[in-house]
Amino acid sequence: MLARALVRRCPRCGAGRLFTRWFRMVERCPRCRFRFERRAEEGAFLGAYVLNLALTETALAAVLFGFILVRANNDSGGPLWPVFALGGLVAIVLPLAFYPFSRTLWAAMDLAARPPRRDEV
Ligand SMILES: [Zn+2]
Repeated sequence: MLARALVRRCPRCGAGRLFTRWFRMVERCPRCRFRFERRAEEGAFLGAYVLNLALTETALAAVLFGFILVRANNDSGGPLWPVFALGGLVAIVLPLAFYPFSRTLWAAMDLAARPPRRDEV
């Protein structure tokens, strides 16, 4: 299910075309008709947000750690703007690029944790 989700496919049946646009996910799988937003309440995809945030924060920590390693081994006092530019780029582009993957990954995790009931299929 996670492998299917990593390529933006339905975690249940593997069908594609789950997004009409980069940020717009279909309500149901076009093949198996599984409803991705299984709970009726707000925040059913809060986990997708958390996945996206965790990945972005990890990438920003990697940028910071890389900067610390470079400065620790070569303290020439170079400019800081490349680090800020890379950090800003990671903070803005990564969550936008990862958004659809976080949605399908969260749908897969939700499906693995709570198998679908008969009325959901
Ligand atoms: Zn499906």
